Amino acid sequence: MRRTRTLASIGVAAAALLALTACNSGGPGTPGGTGGDKGDGGDKPLFEVAKDVKLDGSPTFDKIAKRGKVVVGVKEDQPGLGYLDTTTNVRSGFDVDIARWIAASLGYSEDKIEYKAIASANREQAIVNGDIDYYVGTYSITDKRKQQIDFAGPYFITGQGLLIRKGDPEADKLEDFKGKTVCSATGSTPIQNIKANFPDIKTQEYDLYSACVQDLIDKKVDAVTTDQAILIGYAAQYPDDVKVTGGLFTEERYGVGLAKGDDVLRTHINDMFTDGGTIWKAIFEKDLGSSGIKVDQPKVDAY
Ligand code: GLU
Repeated sequence: MRRTRTLASIGVAAAALLALTACNSGGPGTPGGTGGDKGDGGDKPLFEVAKDVKLDGSPTFDKIAKRGKVVVGVKEDQPGLGYLDTTTNVRSGFDVDIARWIAASLGYSEDKIEYKAIASANREQAIVNGDIDYYVGTYSITDKRKQQIDFAGPYFITGQGLLIRKGDPEADKLEDFKGKTVCSATGSTPIQNIKANFPDIKTQEYDLYSACVQDLIDKKVDAVTTDQAILIGYAAQYPDDVKVTGGLFTEERYGVGLAKGDDVLRTHINDMFTDGGTIWKAIFEKDLGSSGIKVDQPKVDAY
């Protein structure tokens, strides 16, 4: 097996030297790019598409190779993390660029990636069914989920937070919402937390957090709760209407969802994270650098 960690560890500087070929497939930060940066006057890809990759013993990789493209599960309504601009058709966000980095490490450029939007409640099943090769989308590593699937990572750490309407009375912890209605996504860790530990809080659930945010703006619910990193994206999208309040109530460690038992692919992705040099940081800066989120790349856990 040819270990692709060598390529991943070349880092940004060397990758920039190899940039020209990658740029030909589309501008960085655009659907054809390699997760490159904008605003520095040049099209500088953040990572290179690996060549002649072999991952002996990975059923997922074999499937990808046979198909000639990667099928990735993502979110597309979470600005800054996993977002599809339906007017320009451009996908953006930290998770999307992590998904692109993984595809590139397997030898697949943007034009060989098919994205499937999958809501929180349907992720495990999509992976178990083989509908997607891997999932990158604010997906917390939990023991319960690990019974059905495996995770590479963690690659990001955040925690449950609260989004409220601007102008409403200050309320910065879940206890403040007793008797009120809080919205979150079906099948998510935050909705499970409220149902299990806060029986006095009424809940409204949707498949998508964007529906919760709309309800908040329309005064149909009193707060939205999910990972603060997600809420920060909505606060930036609707700065006149909503704001993030309070701190983090939980620790949410984001992993890449994978088919259970594909240890070769899981190790490959973990090695990519570990040996990626400054690539993680460059992706973070590009997608979340202006968000105010302060977080370092976490160490990949032993499984
Ligand atoms: N990270 C949490 C989860 O995996 C909430 C965000 C989401 O629903 O994607 O359940």
